[in-house]
Amino acid sequence: MARAYIAPRRKMMKSRKYNGKCEHCGTPKPLSEVYCYIDDVNPAITYNAPYLCIDCYKKKYGNG
Ligand SMILES: [Zn+2]
Repeated sequence: MARAYIAPRRKMMKSRKYNGKCEHCGTPKPLSEVYCYIDDVNPAITYNAPYLCIDCYKKKYGNG
C-alpha cells in the first residue's frame, strides 16, 4: 500500500526543476525515465523528493 508512484509527466502543482540526471547516482536520464516519490497527503514530501533513475528508486523505496 505504498503511496509512492511514478510521477506522470503532466504538470504537478509543485515540481522542482529536473537537472537531467538521477540525483542519487548522477546518471543522465531523460525526464521520461526518472521517478519521483509522490505523496498525495503531504506536498512538501513530494516537493523534496529527489528525481531518481529506476534502479535508485527501487533501492530507496522498494518495488512498490
Ligand atoms: Zn540513479
